[in-house]
Amino acid sequence: MIYADNAATTKTSRTAIAAMLPYFNTVYGNPSSLYAFGQQAKEALEDARTRIAACLGCDAREITFTSGGSEADNQALLSAAAIGARKGKKHIVSTAFEHHAVLHTLRKLKTQGFDVTLLDVPENGLLSPRQVADAIRDDTCLVSVMYANNEIGTVQPIREIGAVCREKGVLFHTDAVQAVGHIPVDLRSDNIDLLSLSAHKFHGPRGVGVLAARRGVPLTSLIEGGAQERGKRAGTENLPAIMGMAAALGEAVRDLDANARKLRVLRDALIEGLSAVPHSILNGDPERRLPGNVHFCFEGVEGESLLLLLDDKGVCASSGSACTSGSLDPSHVLLAIGRPHEIAHGSLRLTLDAENTMEDVQQIIIAVREVVAYLRAMSPVWRDLMSGKQKFILE
Ligand SMILES: *Cc1c(COP(=O)(O)O)cnc(C)c1O
Repeated sequence: MIYADNAATTKTSRTAIAAMLPYFNTVYGNPSSLYAFGQQAKEALEDARTRIAACLGCDAREITFTSGGSEADNQALLSAAAIGARKGKKHIVSTAFEHHAVLHTLRKLKTQGFDVTLLDVPENGLLSPRQVADAIRDDTCLVSVMYANNEIGTVQPIREIGAVCREKGVLFHTDAVQAVGHIPVDLRSDNIDLLSLSAHKFHGPRGVGVLAARRGVPLTSLIEGGAQERGKRAGTENLPAIMGMAAALGEAVRDLDANARKLRVLRDALIEGLSAVPHSILNGDPERRLPGNVHFCFEGVEGESLLLLLDDKGVCASSGSACTSGSLDPSHVLLAIGRPHEIAHGSLRLTLDAENTMEDVQQIIIAVREVVAYLRAMSPVWRDLMSGKQKFILE
């Protein structure tokens, strides 16, 4: 089997698992307990916080542990909205291609009287700081732009967008779930006020993440209860997961340059091999993209069938859309960059990690070519395209 769906989730690393184990049955006290055994857990928790903060270029006090990226996104947006509402500012700027954890929270805020501007994304998937600057109004309380897109892998000019927000005195949140551990991210130099990350996207365990909030940005708790996380997130801390996350992040940041260098070679070979398929197109900017991300549309092919047949050939891939079963809606990200419905339906996302090899890449290329040719040969749409009855959209 070739696993090429690392944007969906990653294998928990050995380092992460080893770091977690003692906290299940050796140091298993509750960090809130006063006896020394509980305090040992508390020390581990605070040590993990310090190490994670160091990886993000912020202070330990700026780190709040959450159940993952979705919770961090929810809390970031709701907190910034609460701050805005207190000042009578109820306008939020974001983009049309955010993760649903952001988009659906914005939808909820709309029902609470917030006005939301979703910026259009150009075809290359790269927002310009100018677009953001132009969208900010006197009543804007928050800008939320994802660091790197989870489908097409484009990496936004976050530092510049952050600078625009700083200049205009508007809070800036970034969903950095796909970026952290893969490309350099630094809260301070990137001018970020609020940042979300999730451990299972960088070889840590699932169900744990971080909301980093710059000092002076008060968070609203989504979960009421005990005083854990300085009252920002009630509930007994998931210490094994937090220790696993800290270890995975440390490892990912340590190996970041070497992994990225290796992945770019694999990625570009895969892009080259798939570009040779006629009537196909690479989605997202060829350069400003995550080191392991490849995303294509194939005309006259149905994405779901493509995935199933690739699965038969031992390749785990994704269409890139968070297609809930039964829904045939194409990806909102592909529609946002202007792909027509019929093209957006034929999408394929392949996301590699450092364990993938050039042999994997060659096998994937062969498998995709075969499957695309097979599906086209059976497709009535393809017949119409070939006979000229219908015009090709992709060259
Ligand atoms: C995976 C992902 C999330 C959600 O993170 P979970 O930890 O799975 O809740 C949010 N945003 C982006 C960009 C993601 O890729």
